[in-house]
Amino acid sequence: MRTDEVTALLLYEDFIEQVEYELKKHAGKKLVMITMDFSNFNYINNMYGYKEGDKLLRQAADEFLRGSRGFLCGCRMYSDHFAALFEHDNHNDWLQMLTVNRGDYLRDTRTKFAATFLQLYIGIYFWEPGVSVKKAIDKANIARKMVKGNHREPVCVYLPEYENKYFKDAEMIALLKRSVADDNVVVLLQPKISLETGEVIGAEALARLRGTDGRVYLPADFIPTLESVGYITALDNAVLRKVITILREWKDKGYGLVPISVNWSYPHFLHSSLAKDLKELVDKDGVEPEYIEFEITERMFTNDLDTVIPILKEMREEGFEISVDDFGSGYSSFNVMGILPVDTIKIDKGFLDSCFNNERGKQLIQGVIDIIKKVKLQMVCEGVETKEQADMLKDFGCENVQGYLYDKPLMLEEFEEKYMKKR
Ligand code: C2E
Ligand code: MG
Ligand code: MG
Repeated sequence: MRTDEVTALLLYEDFIEQVEYELKKHAGKKLVMITMDFSNFNYINNMYGYKEGDKLLRQAADEFLRGSRGFLCGCRMYSDHFAALFEHDNHNDWLQMLTVNRGDYLRDTRTKFAATFLQLYIGIYFWEPGVSVKKAIDKANIARKMVKGNHREPVCVYLPEYENKYFKDAEMIALLKRSVADDNVVVLLQPKISLETGEVIGAEALARLRGTDGRVYLPADFIPTLESVGYITALDNAVLRKVITILREWKDKGYGLVPISVNWSYPHFLHSSLAKDLKELVDKDGVEPEYIEFEITERMFTNDLDTVIPILKEMREEGFEISVDDFGSGYSSFNVMGILPVDTIKIDKGFLDSCFNNERGKQLIQGVIDIIKKVKLQMVCEGVETKEQADMLKDFGCENVQGYLYDKPLMLEEFEEKYMKKR
C-alpha cells in the first residue's frame, strides 16, 4: 500500500481499496466514515511556512485520527482534507469520544499556531448497509460542508435531508464564485440622511447577485448559505473592493466624499492581521480609511469578545470607522456600548417597528437614543418608512436615519445623480 509522505496515511486510491477490504473483514460490524479539514490552512502555510504546515497535518493524522478509538485506516485526500474509517460499538459513545479528542487536539494545536484561530470541521457518516465507499465519503463531506464556516458547531453527523440543501447551496456558491470572478457582484448604495440638515451623511453598500438568467438575488437568498459554507468573506471582500473603487472615482470626479459602510461578517476576525491588511488595501488606491465604515452585527458579540475586540481597536487605530448593525434585533446587550471600540450604533428596523406603535415602546426608543448619546456614540436609525417615524425620531434627538422614506438602495449612477455634489 502506498502512503502519503507528509502524514504516512494511505493515498486516496489505496484508501478506497483498504476500506473495501475492511468492509468485508468487518462485515456486520458498525463502521463510520469521517472527512475533515481545517479553517485557514493556507494561512498557516503562509504565516509559519510549509514545514510547520506539514507538521500540523502530521499531528492531525497521528494525534487525532490514529489516536481516536476504533481507527482502521485514513488518507489525506488533498491539501488539508482528510478521510478516515473507524469501527465503533455505540453511536453516541463513539461520537462523544471523538468530540472530546477533537477538543483536546485542537487546544494543543491552537497554542502552537496562535496567529490564527484554527478550526477543524468534521463530517461524520455512520455507515448503512449497501452504501459504496465513495458514496460514504460523499455523505461525510455533505455533513462537513453543512458546518464549514460555522465556528460554534464544527462537527456534523450526516442526515439524508442534508442532500437537498447541499445541492441548493452548491448552486448558490457556484453563482457567487462566478460573480466574484467576473466582477459581477452588484453593489447598491442606500443613503444615510441627517435629520437635522436633510443632507446625505453616508451610504451603506448592499450586495445583490445576478443569475445567468438575469434574476436578481437578495441577501436573504444567499447570505445564510454563504455563511454556512464559509464563503461569506469572499462576498464581503468583493463588496469592499467595489466600494474602494467607487470612492476612488468620486475623488477623481471631485465630489465631496461621504463614508460608505460595508457589512462585515464574523470570520474576517479570525485573521489577526485584518486591520493591517485592510489599511494596505485602501492605501493601494489612495482612499482614506475614514471613508470606510465596517458594520458588524451585535450577534457577533454573543461570543468570542477576546478575539474581536483587539482587532476592532486596531481597525480604528488605522482610521476605519466601526458601527454596530441591527442594534435591538434580539441579541441586544448594552455591553456592546460599554466596552466595544465602535463609533456608531445602528438601531434595527425591527426594534423601531415594534416599539413605534405603543407608548412604552416609544419611551424605549427615546431611552436608547439618550443612552447612545450619553456614551458619546453616533447613531443611525434604520428602516424608517414613514414621516411620522422620522418626526418622532427627530423629536427624540436621533441624529441620522436610513430607510425607504428617503431612498431604497440605489444603483451607483442614480446615487451619484441624486446625492453627490462637486466640492
Ligand atoms: P442590513 O445591513 O441591516 O441592511 C439594511 C437592510 O434593510 C437592507 O436590506 C436594506 O435594503 C433594508 N432596508 C433599508 N431601509 C428599509 C426600509 O425602510 N424598509 C425596509 N423594509 N427595508 C429597508 P438588504 O439589502 O436586503 O440586506 C439585508 C441584509 O443582508 C443586510 O442587513 C445585511 O445584514 C446583509 N447584507 C447585505 N449585503 C451584505 C454584504 O455584502 N455582506 C454581508 N455580510 N451582509 C450583507
Ligand atoms: Mg448593515
Ligand atoms: Mg441593519
